[in-house]
Amino acid sequence: VDKSGIVSYKKKPTSELMAAIQLGIGQSVGGLSSKPERDVLMQDFGVVEVVFFPGEGSNLTPAHHYSDFRFKTYAPVAFRYFRDLFGIQPDDFMLSLCDEPLKELSNPGASGSIFYLTQDDEFIIKTVQHKEAEFLQKLLPGYFLNISQNKRTLLPKFYGLYCYQCSGKNIRFTVMNNLLPSTVKLHEKYDMKGSTYKRKASKHERSKSSPTLKDLDFMDNHPEGLQLEKDTYDALIKTLQRDCRVLESFKIMDYSLLVGIYNLDLANKEKKQIQEFQSQQYCNTFITRHFWNRQSQSTVQQQQIQLQQDKEQSENYGSSQSRSDRTDTRNSLHRGKSFKTRIGQYSTPMESIQGVTDLNEEIDEDTDVPSDIQTPHWLSNSHVSDCPGGIPARNAKGERLLIYLGIIDILQSFRLKKRLEHTMKSIVIDGDTISVHRPSYYAQRFLQYHATRVFKKTPTALKHSPSKKR
Ligand code: ATP
Ligand code: CA
Ligand code: CA
Repeated sequence: VDKSGIVSYKKKPTSELMAAIQLGIGQSVGGLSSKPERDVLMQDFGVVEVVFFPGEGSNLTPAHHYSDFRFKTYAPVAFRYFRDLFGIQPDDFMLSLCDEPLKELSNPGASGSIFYLTQDDEFIIKTVQHKEAEFLQKLLPGYFLNISQNKRTLLPKFYGLYCYQCSGKNIRFTVMNNLLPSTVKLHEKYDMKGSTYKRKASKHERSKSSPTLKDLDFMDNHPEGLQLEKDTYDALIKTLQRDCRVLESFKIMDYSLLVGIYNLDLANKEKKQIQEFQSQQYCNTFITRHFWNRQSQSTVQQQQIQLQQDKEQSENYGSSQSRSDRTDTRNSLHRGKSFKTRIGQYSTPMESIQGVTDLNEEIDEDTDVPSDIQTPHWLSNSHVSDCPGGIPARNAKGERLLIYLGIIDILQSFRLKKRLEHTMKSIVIDGDTISVHRPSYYAQRFLQYHATRVFKKTPTALKHSPSKKR
C-alpha cells in the first residue's frame, strides 16, 4: 500500500491486475467453448496458451484502458475437465469471475500472496510464486488421478492456473474453491498445522475484526475440542487420512487445515439483540418508526426482486443439468432458505466428507440429507439457512456450531525446500534419511492433532437418533 492508499502487487496496482484477470479468464474460458469436449490426454497437462491483450483490442480480445499485457492459461483442457468434474459450467464460471468486481481479502499469511474473492463467494483467487506454479503444473496429472478416483476430499480444488504478464513482470495465480462464507460473520477462524512452534496469531492479526487464529489459540479457546457425532467424526477423519496420504505421496508439507466456526446459539443471541434494539428504535419516535418502516419495506422488496432474479437465473441454467440438480438438492436441505445465500453451490464441507458428488444418488426425503450421516435434530429447526452446508458440531458449553473447513496451501513441496536445506544439513547429519521422513512426520502430526485435539466424538449418551431410512 503506497502513500496515496493504492494497493499494489509486484508494483502493479491491484485494480489493474483484477481487471486484467477478469479480461483474461473471460477470453480463456470463452475461447475454449469452440474446442469440442473430449477426454484429457497426458499432453494436455503441459499445454500453455498465450493471448496478447493490446489496449486497442484485437480480433480475439476487447479493448481496455490498461497497459498491454499477455495472459497465459496453463493446461486449459485439463482444467476444463476438472471444473466439469465439480459441476461448474463454463458460463457459470465466467459469470462468477468476470461479471462482477472481485473483493480483495486481507491475507494473514506471511508469503505476501494476494487473495481475491468472487462476489458470490464461490471462488478464491490466490497469487502464487513461480515455484508454486511450476509445482502445481507437475502435480496436475497425479492430482487429477486422485480427484477422479476420490471425490470425498478436503484438498483444495484447483479450477485454473494463469499468468498475467506485463512489462517484464509475471504474476501467477490459481482459482480455487472458497472455503469460508463471507455473507455471514464466522465467530472463529483457525489455520492449523498440528504444530505448536510459533503457532499463535500475532497481536496485529488478533486485533482484526475477523482474525485467523492458530493452533495454540485453538487449544486456549477450546481445550476440550469440538464435539462431532460419531458418523460425522468418522467421515471427517477418514477424509483427512486419505488426503494426508496423497499429500505425503507428493512430499508436500506445511499445509494447514482452515477451520471456520459459526456458532448458531451465539448468532441467535446476536440477532435477538439487534431485533430488540430495532424495536426500541421503532417505538422511540414516529420519525424513526417511519424510517424503519421504509427500510424494512424496501428490504422486503429487494429480497423479492433478488428471489425473482435468482429464480430466473436458475431457470436459464436449466440446460446446465448438473448445477440445477445440485441447487435443488442443496435447497431441499434447508427448505425455504433465501436463494441469496449461495455459499458452496459446488461443494460444501458436508459434501466433501460425505462425497455426495453422484447426483443420481438416492436422497433420503425424511431427513432432507443425502447421505448416511444423520443430522442432529437441532439442525432442521434452527436458523441454518444463514449458513448452509456446514458440519454440525458442539463446543464444550454445548452450543450448536456449524463448521466450515478444508486443507489449504499445498503447493510447498518438500523437494524444493530440501535442495536448500540439504547442502547445510547433510554436512552435519545424513540429510536424506531425515528428510525423506519429514513429509510423513508432518502428515502424522497433522492427523493426530486434528483427530484427537480438535475434533472429538460426542459421548454416545448424548446422542440423538432420529428415524433413519435406507
Ligand atoms: P503462508 O505461506 O505465509 O502461510 P500464503 O500466502 O501461502 O501464506 P495461505 O496459507 O494459503 O496463504 O492462506 C492464508 C490465509 O488465507 C488462510 O489462513 C485463510 O485465512 C485464507 N485462505 C486461504 N485459502 C483459502 C480458501 N480456499 N478459502 C478461504 N480462505 C482461504
Ligand atoms: Ca499457509
Ligand atoms: Ca504458502
